[in-house]
Amino acid sequence: MPELPEVETVRRGLDPLLTGAKIISVKLNRKNLRFPFPEAFSERLVGRTIIKLSRRAKYLLFYLSHNETILSHLGMSGSWRIEDEFSRKEHSSIGKLVAHDHCIINVQAKDDKIYRLTYNDARRFGFILLTDTTKLYEHPLLRRLGVEPMNNTLSGAYLKKAFANKKTSLKTALLDQSIVAGLGNIYVCEALWRSHLSPRRSAFTLALEDVYMLESANFLAQNICNLITEAIISGGTSLRDYMHADGSLGYFQHYFSVYGREGKECLNCRVPIVRILQSGRSSFYCPQCQK
Ligand SMILES: [Zn+2]
Repeated sequence: MPELPEVETVRRGLDPLLTGAKIISVKLNRKNLRFPFPEAFSERLVGRTIIKLSRRAKYLLFYLSHNETILSHLGMSGSWRIEDEFSRKEHSSIGKLVAHDHCIINVQAKDDKIYRLTYNDARRFGFILLTDTTKLYEHPLLRRLGVEPMNNTLSGAYLKKAFANKKTSLKTALLDQSIVAGLGNIYVCEALWRSHLSPRRSAFTLALEDVYMLESANFLAQNICNLITEAIISGGTSLRDYMHADGSLGYFQHYFSVYGREGKECLNCRVPIVRILQSGRSSFYCPQCQK
């Protein structure tokens, strides 16, 4: 599943060609993805200019002229790719089935060239919605999202406040999108390992005013931000093959310190990594280093 760094990688890949581009035609190959495509989708898009490409948590936001914004989520297997005439010919070699190309948007970019923007999604858990830009952050999918896991928004003080009185596990609390938005299972496991904190610990303990915990919240916040930043820099990570927004297929070679390493030696202390289930999700951690 694409995590926040992959979505940000897609945004950065699409941005140079799409910002300022004019939509010239739209083709839908089916009526719905996870949700139905918006009513009169094509008519509402054609003639609009893409003003800005943004991201909130794992949602891609295409700000359009005339005050509407495309809100897109990649779900489990979604990808956007952008191709000019030349790269389109190479399409058969990039590994995604044309049968899963559900939405095709032709745009005229600022360089006057025509590009084809295609949404492909084999499992169709992703979606493409259209919403009023002035009410964008009141949208049900966006309005309750917490802070971005970035240095300028996430801090130890914020986590302490959010976790005070929370009796759920630290792992579950970190996956709560209303606290930290866009943080997924992989990065929570990795951040907890780096921070020497057990995923089983109760979240409220991070807010306790004892000497050890005082630094732990800061350390955890910093580790989360560092992990996300590192992953964005390395071009996003994924367990499976993942398509870059520019149409090329990227196999991200990312080595996780703890995620997916059940039974293997902890890189700190050589004790075997343990996997447990928490709220139906796998947690990987070192029982020796993480308390
Ligand atoms: Zn260890």
